[in-house]
Amino acid sequence: MKFSEFKLDSRIMQGIDAIGYENPTPVQEGAIPQIISGSDLIACAQTGTGKTAAYVLPLLHGIVTEKNRTDTIKALVLAPTRELAVQIDQQLEGFSYFVGVSSIAVYGGGSGVDFEVEKKAIKTGAEILVATPGRLISHINSGYVDFSHLRYLILDEADRMLDMGFQPDIMKIISYLPKKRQTLLFSATMPGDIRAFTKKILHNPNEISLAVSKPAENVLQAAYRVYDNQKIALVKKLIAGKDLPSVLIFSATKSSVKDLEKELQRQKLDIKAIHSDLEQDQRKEVLRQFKNREVQILVATDIVSRGIDIDNISLIINYNVPQDAEDYVHRVGRTARADKTGMAITFINDRETWNFTKIEKLIGSEIRKLPLPEGIGKAPSKDRGRPDKSRFKGGGPKGKGGFKRTPKRK
Ligand code: AMP
Repeated sequence: MKFSEFKLDSRIMQGIDAIGYENPTPVQEGAIPQIISGSDLIACAQTGTGKTAAYVLPLLHGIVTEKNRTDTIKALVLAPTRELAVQIDQQLEGFSYFVGVSSIAVYGGGSGVDFEVEKKAIKTGAEILVATPGRLISHINSGYVDFSHLRYLILDEADRMLDMGFQPDIMKIISYLPKKRQTLLFSATMPGDIRAFTKKILHNPNEISLAVSKPAENVLQAAYRVYDNQKIALVKKLIAGKDLPSVLIFSATKSSVKDLEKELQRQKLDIKAIHSDLEQDQRKEVLRQFKNREVQILVATDIVSRGIDIDNISLIINYNVPQDAEDYVHRVGRTARADKTGMAITFINDRETWNFTKIEKLIGSEIRKLPLPEGIGKAPSKDRGRPDKSRFKGGGPKGKGGFKRTPKRK
């Protein structure tokens, strides 16, 4: 696709040329025509995808093609941090070089002089305001912000703003805006609280998603809260006597891999391990056996796991919560290929709750926490270390057998 296909104002095309963009990015291809058409939009896209230009370009187009253009605030971009606000304002300045649309970034932390500069720009009619919510409220409270001509509201990095507790400020700001407006929401993730929030402030939005891939739809995901010293017993309970042709266990440390190997071999389970103490040839041989289903259970360290390319695993056990939320998605993607159903079970110790919350945020749903089976002992307290329980309110798991089914991939 070419930028020329969007039929943007020729002066904006000059700006795109001057900045040196050749072709639109996928989020731009998806968002620009929809924004020009006037509909509300939810875009699930991360920083680095070109999301800023995806709304800045149609915004500028809308402003410069407006009849009877006046010096009033026409667009408000809300951003979580001063750094992002500055970055957005810089892109705006770059693109509007040939069209002369005025903008100002309004953010906290500056001096009283900065506040006065912002105040003057707001009063004399900057056409686009890029603001952090708290600072904008200070200006609104002073009584000179006129939003009566506003046509666009953009929420950038909405998930981060909600994480930072800005929801009440945003709702307050919105109460000052005209009801008839176009609202665009950009977010890297779409957890339940963002969904609920979008329902409050967007009107029949279109939706585009460029999020990281979600685990396959037929993977059953669950987790146990467990102390480290209960984990081996729990693995045994989960595997022994079950019809699981292929089980892959990921663990963070070499020593826990070795302990597990020893312990499960003692239980007469069919298990092999790979870790960095093995020679390359030995690792290859173990992998070959596991792939060919000559060995039922493979235990591997995190580092080694990145290079493992095996599909169709019946059960994945994350012996620790993966440090990197995307690693979780990739691992879980190893199960349930084709029409098979797989399971992914994660052990969460009392220090890993926060990391696990990040995973749930990334995949956009809460993963069911199961009670420990009999004989394992008492689980760690549910709430310890959980920073924000309210993120998932109302979204209880409903999957078969106590597991949560991930939503169908669109
Ligand atoms: P963003 O996701 O908006 O933070 O953009 C990430 C980076 O991609 C920024 O440095 C943009 O200048 C750049 N960028 C955005 N759109 C394009 C494009 N169509 N072609 C080349 N670079 C782009």
